[in-house]
Amino acid sequence: MNTSSPTGRRRISILGATGSIGRNTLDIMSHLGGRDLFEVPAITGMGNIELLAEQARQTGAGFAVTADPDRYQDLKAALAGSGIEAGAGPSALIEAGARNTDLLIAGIVGIAGLAPTLAAAASGADIALANKECLVSAGDLFTAAIAAGGGKLLPVDSEHNAIFQVLEEHQRHAVERIILTASGGPFRDCTREQMAAVTPEIAAAHPNWSMGLKISIDSASMFNKALEMIEARHLFGVKPEQIEVIVHPQSIIHSMVGYSDGSVLAQLGAPDMRHAIGYAISHPRRANLPLERLDFARLARLDFFAPDETRFPALALARTAMQRGGLQGAVLNGAKEAALEAFIAGRTGFLDIADIVATVMDRLDDGRQAHGIDDVYAADLEARRTAAELMRKSA
Ligand code: NAD
Ligand code: MG
Repeated sequence: MNTSSPTGRRRISILGATGSIGRNTLDIMSHLGGRDLFEVPAITGMGNIELLAEQARQTGAGFAVTADPDRYQDLKAALAGSGIEAGAGPSALIEAGARNTDLLIAGIVGIAGLAPTLAAAASGADIALANKECLVSAGDLFTAAIAAGGGKLLPVDSEHNAIFQVLEEHQRHAVERIILTASGGPFRDCTREQMAAVTPEIAAAHPNWSMGLKISIDSASMFNKALEMIEARHLFGVKPEQIEVIVHPQSIIHSMVGYSDGSVLAQLGAPDMRHAIGYAISHPRRANLPLERLDFARLARLDFFAPDETRFPALALARTAMQRGGLQGAVLNGAKEAALEAFIAGRTGFLDIADIVATVMDRLDDGRQAHGIDDVYAADLEARRTAAELMRKSA
């Protein structure tokens, strides 16, 4: 277990501080009291050294880390005279996660967030988890690491945060279904022909939420919802068939839990990630947050549609991955990350992402289980390699 801070302030480390989740976290922390209330043992980013150094100075961070090993000197120079320790590369990232902290905000995007988040879990820190890829790729190992460390796992993904808020602890046995809401993204009403031609810029323009580039494109393909189905399975211990997805274009209901007596409990709010982040930071209390209040008369209506799985095959792929079990979550995620990066670089089409993931999942469906975290990394690498090979062949 972590030792307590000599200053009496609460310690919050932030992985991925320069991203969308990270910046929203710092905004909430500064609203809640900033440096009077919080100490920041470690903070990480990647390419945006200037912003990382500025955030480190503003929060008085102990350790600032760029994930890019080639940017160590730049970061050190940007922190000159501050007394803040600089680090760079994968091992410094893990060290950032492992530094004594009360709460770790896991805000790195992709499987790159797994190792430092696991290090924090092992140290006994509470984990506010935005990095869904930890659960998608390494679900059982990750939840076991949290249990062994003794910290709490607080979901920050808005849907899972909503479910966490309405999941009555003493009624868990009566949970019949988890209903994840999805905005449907920018292509909700587009044909496959229209989707075939889209650019990364068009795909990244989310109608409701302001998020990082990769998750915005994943929302357009509904791979984000696919990852969230697997995330929900691990977070709430439900069976795949208990997880439903409903398209709700207004993104006001953030998700719901259906109970055995037919009651459905929902959590509502404006589509602003600071709700979920503020909730996780303040848990088990509720803070006073200066966020938008819903005006129901102005909202007037909430719409719901069944998702179209022909246009959005990602959802069926998530169900397949859950049914197959083993390392298929890691394979789905690894292939998706490779195909997504290729799409962003203009090397593959938008609709190819799901085709590539499906083919890679079939090829690597060998019933292998994850005995340790190295198996997860090996499956991730193999999935990326297989995806790259497919893309090379079809180029
Ligand atoms: P982002 O792209 O805005 O930020 C990502 C952060 O991770 C940045 O600080 C970046 O420097 C760092 N990073 C990127 N690649 C890295 C690497 N290889 N190694 C180490 N660090 C790296 O992303 P985001 O939108 O803030 O999303 C972060 C995570 O939170 C994702 O897993 C996403 O699915 C999840 N999430 C985000 C939102 C949202 O509103 N943005 C909502 C729900 C869940
Ligand atoms: Mg979400």
